[in-house]
Amino acid sequence: MPKLNENFLKLEKNYLFINIAKKINAFIEANPDKKDNIIRMGIGDVTLPIAPCVVEAVKKGAEEMGVKETFKGYEDSGTGYDFLKEAVANYYKSFGADVKPSEIRISDGAKSDCGNIVDIFADDNVVLITDPAYPVYVDSNLMSGRKVIYADCTKENGFCAVPDKNVHADLIYLCSPNNPTGAAFTKNQLKAWIDYAIDNKAIIIYDAAYEAFITEPDIPRSIFEVEGARQCAIEICSLSKTAGFTGMRCGYTVIPDELEVEASDGTKVSISQLWGRRQGSKFNGVSYPVQCGAAAVFSEEGREQIKVNLEYYKENARIIGEALDELGIYYTGGKNSPYIWLECPNGMKSWDFFDYLLTEANVVGTPGAGFGNNGEGFFRLTSFGDREKTIEAVERIKKLLKK
Ligand SMILES: *Cc1c(COP(=O)(O)O)cnc(C)c1O
Repeated sequence: MPKLNENFLKLEKNYLFINIAKKINAFIEANPDKKDNIIRMGIGDVTLPIAPCVVEAVKKGAEEMGVKETFKGYEDSGTGYDFLKEAVANYYKSFGADVKPSEIRISDGAKSDCGNIVDIFADDNVVLITDPAYPVYVDSNLMSGRKVIYADCTKENGFCAVPDKNVHADLIYLCSPNNPTGAAFTKNQLKAWIDYAIDNKAIIIYDAAYEAFITEPDIPRSIFEVEGARQCAIEICSLSKTAGFTGMRCGYTVIPDELEVEASDGTKVSISQLWGRRQGSKFNGVSYPVQCGAAAVFSEEGREQIKVNLEYYKENARIIGEALDELGIYYTGGKNSPYIWLECPNGMKSWDFFDYLLTEANVVGTPGAGFGNNGEGFFRLTSFGDREKTIEAVERIKKLLKK
C-alpha cells in the first residue's frame, strides 16, 4: 500500500465558497420569492468577454494548426514562443522595468507557478506569507510540510504588511495589488521588503496578477521597477484578470538571470536554470492559439480593447468605494484593484455580516475570515459584476447601513 503524503491531511478543508453556496441555498429555500433578487458581489472571476482582436488572434492560431505548412507540435523550449516573450518584455519596458525576453517564461496561469515554484526549494525553508492571503501560497507550502509564518496585514498598516527585522524567512510571498484586500504596495513599502529579503538572503515570490488595475503613479506594476529586486525576486503574473483569460489560461513568470541561491556545498545555483529543469520535466508549454491570443493582448489594439473592460470594473469599484466613503466605512482597495475590503460595521464578525447582508439586502460578498485570521471582522466585495447590479447592490447597502 502506498503511504500518503500526510501533509494533505493537515490542510484546512476548503470550506469558504462551499459554505457561502450552502448559506445562499438555505436562504433561497426559506425565501423562494427572493431568489432572483440576490446580487452576487463575492465572485473572484471576471465576467466580461475576451477582446475582439484577441479572439481573432486565437482563431488565426487555430487555423494555422490545421494547415500542414504552419502546423505546430511541441514547442522547442516549452517556455513560450519568442513573439509572446518579446511582447511581454516590451510591456515591461513601457513602464520602466527592464526584463529580457529570455527571462520570461510563459505559463498556463499564475496559480500553477505560484504553487509549483516551491518544488525547487528545500522543505525545511521558512516561508513567510501575509495574513490574509490568497490560499494557494499557504496550501502549496503546507503540502510539502514547510513551516509557514505570517506577516500581519491589519487596519493599522493599511493591510500592507511590514517586514519584521527580528523574524527570519527564506521565502516570502507578496501579492500587490492584493487579493483579497485590494491594498497595493508603494515603491517605498516594496523597497523595505526587498531590503529585508536581501538581508535574509531570502527570495520574494511576487504575485502581480492585478497589476493591470493600478491607476496611481506611486504604485509599481512590477517588483522589477524597484531597486534591488533583480537580486531577490521572482515575479508571477497572469492574463486572467488583465484580459479575461480565466478560461483561456495564460500567464508568465519572470526570473532574473542573476538570481542565485547557494547549495549546501557552497556552489551557486541559478534559480532560472533550476526552474527551467523543473518545468522541462513536468510542463510542456501553453497551446499555440492561446499564446497568439496572449500576444494580441499586448498589441496596441489589444491594449485599447482590454482597457474598456478594465475601466468597466474600475468604475464599479469606484461606485462601491464612494458608497462606503459616504457611510464612513473603512476599506482598502477599490483604487488599484477590483477588490474592496471593508471593515464590517458595528464590530460585526465576517460571517455575521455575511448573513446580515444576505438576509436584509440580498447581497452576497465574501467573509474576510475565510482568507486568514486577520480577515475576521472584514469583508470582500468585488467589482467584477454587472454595472446595474453593482449600483443596485450599493443602494441597498447604503439603505441598510444608514439606518
Ligand atoms: C486570480 C489570481 C491569480 C490568477 O491565477 P491564474 O491561474 O492565472 O488564473 C493569481 N493570483 C491571485 C492572487 C489571484 O487572485
